[in-house]
Amino acid sequence: MHSGVVNAVADERRGPEDLAGMTGVFFVAAITVALIVLGSRRWRRNRLRNAVRNRPGSTPASAIFIRSYGEMEDHLNGRRCHCGGYLERAGEGPREVDGRRYRVARQRCQDCEEDYAVFFDVTEVLH
Ligand SMILES: [Zn+2]
Repeated sequence: MHSGVVNAVADERRGPEDLAGMTGVFFVAAITVALIVLGSRRWRRNRLRNAVRNRPGSTPASAIFIRSYGEMEDHLNGRRCHCGGYLERAGEGPREVDGRRYRVARQRCQDCEEDYAVFFDVTEVLH
């Protein structure tokens, strides 16, 4: 009896109303695919953003240990935003946490305007 139902459905598909029905199915499928693509893009972007956020220097605990300010420049020049944009300098300042001296460099993405703070441990930098 199941095959009878399937045949009836198959026969109905040849009707003009079913052509519209098929278009609807394709439409829904296209939307579904679009949502999946968007979702995976967002997931990738978040993953990239988290990877960038967890880079060395993102917090005082993961501060980049340097012996000269020249090394700081090298690190900052090598950095890019999670979106791939170029990071411009947005100032820097000293900070002291638990007896260690840090230099915090601020950067801002020229494309998405995301702000970054990069911590450098400058306790050993000679003056
Ligand atoms: Zn960016």
